[in-house]
Amino acid sequence: MGDEGKETGYHIHSHDVVIVGGGLTGLRAAIETVDHGLDTAIISKVHPLRSHSVSAQGGINAALGNAVPGDSWEDHAFDTIKGSDYLADQDAVEIMCKNAPATIIELEHFGTVFSRLPDGRIAQRPFGGGMFPRTCYAADRTGHNILHTLYEQLVGREKNEKGKGGRLTFYDEFFVSSLVKVGDDSFEKGAGKAKRCAGCTAINIADSSLHGFTCYSLLLATGGFGRLFARSTNSLINTGDGASLALRAGVPLKDMEFVQFHPTTLYDTNILVTEGARGEGGYLLNSRNERFMEKYAPKSMELAPRDIVARATQQEIDEGRGFEGGYVLLDLRHLKKEKIAERLPGIRLISMDFAGVDPVESPIPVQPGQHYSMGGVVAGNDLATELPGLYAAGECSCVSVHGANRLGGNSLLETVVFGKLAGQEIEKNFPSSGSWDKKGVEKAVLERLSAEDSRIKALLAKKSGVKMHSLRDELKKTMFEYFGVFREGSKMEKGLKKLLELKATYPEVHINNKSPLFNHALIYTLELEGLFDIAEAVARGAIARQESRGSHSRVDYPERDDERFLYHTIYRLKDGKPVLESLSVRLGKFPIKERVY
Ligand SMILES: Cc1cc2nc3c(=O)[nH]c(=O)nc-3n(C[C@H](O)[C@H](O)[C@H](O)COP(=O)(O)OP(=O)(O)OC[C@H]3O[C@@H](n4cnc5c(N)ncnc54)[C@H](O)[C@@H]3O)c2cc1C
Repeated sequence: MGDEGKETGYHIHSHDVVIVGGGLTGLRAAIETVDHGLDTAIISKVHPLRSHSVSAQGGINAALGNAVPGDSWEDHAFDTIKGSDYLADQDAVEIMCKNAPATIIELEHFGTVFSRLPDGRIAQRPFGGGMFPRTCYAADRTGHNILHTLYEQLVGREKNEKGKGGRLTFYDEFFVSSLVKVGDDSFEKGAGKAKRCAGCTAINIADSSLHGFTCYSLLLATGGFGRLFARSTNSLINTGDGASLALRAGVPLKDMEFVQFHPTTLYDTNILVTEGARGEGGYLLNSRNERFMEKYAPKSMELAPRDIVARATQQEIDEGRGFEGGYVLLDLRHLKKEKIAERLPGIRLISMDFAGVDPVESPIPVQPGQHYSMGGVVAGNDLATELPGLYAAGECSCVSVHGANRLGGNSLLETVVFGKLAGQEIEKNFPSSGSWDKKGVEKAVLERLSAEDSRIKALLAKKSGVKMHSLRDELKKTMFEYFGVFREGSKMEKGLKKLLELKATYPEVHINNKSPLFNHALIYTLELEGLFDIAEAVARGAIARQESRGSHSRVDYPERDDERFLYHTIYRLKDGKPVLESLSVRLGKFPIKERVY
């Protein structure tokens, strides 16, 4: 496993490309770089098959027109842009929607077992925001199917012989703790003094040893930051590490205030109940047995975009038409046992195991919960960030295909379309000589490793102080309470004050467990430091945006305000201080309209 670091005590690994993240984005990118001959490393803090992508349920969008003929990429793009409340960059949406049908076919050829129509073609179900059967699925375990397919593809490539594609190495259960930058002139003559990303540092979770990685290009594919909020459908690992790594390396974040709340998460545990359940015909009832979506979206009903259904559900609960404890009901009984077993088997099991309810016989108790991070690391359509050598794709990035609200089924699509493109771009920009100043980079990596070593030793040296778990719980509660489904200016100011007070206590944080073996408390503590960076970006963006758009709903500014706010929020650290800037939205052929559903 690379240089054993006899002199320094650190382990150094050298690759052409380092991909941080073993979810759909990272794996899809790796297929591309490996097939183009690049020596690729995939680093993941969990085994790749435990990445959050595995839990995606409902499906992946593509205008195949299988279930109902007559769909087109333009219709898909229109629905996406309207769903985004016009904040998506239209050229990026075009890339995603145009590539969608070929991507599904490619996944099928890789081996993904999609559900089928009786004539054998890939089946499609309606999802929110489109109301058209455009979402391809593998029962309600779509992410599981695609992730396993891509992983299998890569396991085959791990055994590549010389001359047949590039080398591939998995670093499972390695936690990336910082990015490494070097002067660009150590790479190419005449590139000036600009900095460049040339690697990262990581902790091997099994034994806490420190590892340095050198590379020519590094792709962040680290997923979302759902675990910043008290109620979330996201895996425990979704702590937005990529966004904070980038921010600290001087790379800005975009549209962080846009956080998606899903209307149907299981009461109390907040495990997701897929939109596919409504796509198959399920409907929502309040405590008066009313299908309340009639009031909020009379045309689309339960298949209006998520932000609209989540707000409607929360409003019913807030105004006393929910059930005690704060939930409404999702009724699937009329779909009957056979259809539920065929199309929604996972949802039935989840409901029985975690809520004690069999949806064949009783409605499922549901409530809104955080689900998706629309904002992320600023990346162009070529997935490049502001920092040469650093790329970002998938949920950790903001290429701006989702704008202010993501449509269900578009995120899986984003991971595979832009994961592939990221791999292609990295390959395109790789030096034809295949070489660069690796010694210079190694020196920079060693310096960073020594800084990380001191940071970790200082954390472990503390004998008493604030408990990591209590601080993290406080942060999550604060974010859900002050920056949740509904937001208001003075309340958010209070929330920001509270979160800055909490952040100020982070240096006091104390870890009981001092063992080097699988010290998850240490990893959680490092994640928590990053979560504070992200929390501040969300809070400051939300306070500054005095309008309601997509998922960002302000009771004090209930209207969308295109004159003042049709722009992206850019958040960066300058000399360690937060700075907000704005960036124009790239409009196109789809004109801005009212968002009526
Ligand atoms: C319950 C649920 C259901 C969903 N259903 C759907 C759906 O039906 N359709 C749809 O389109 N979208 C769905 N989504 C959204 C979609 O699944 C995700 O947006 C997408 O899978 C994210 O993929 P990704 O590759 O960007 O990141 P992830 O799959 O989250 O992977 C992130 C990777 O980064 C690694 N990582 C993170 N930080 C570090 C670090 N510091 N060091 C090392 N490794 C690190 C992790 O180990 C992991 O391998 C769903 C999401 C959830 C939560």
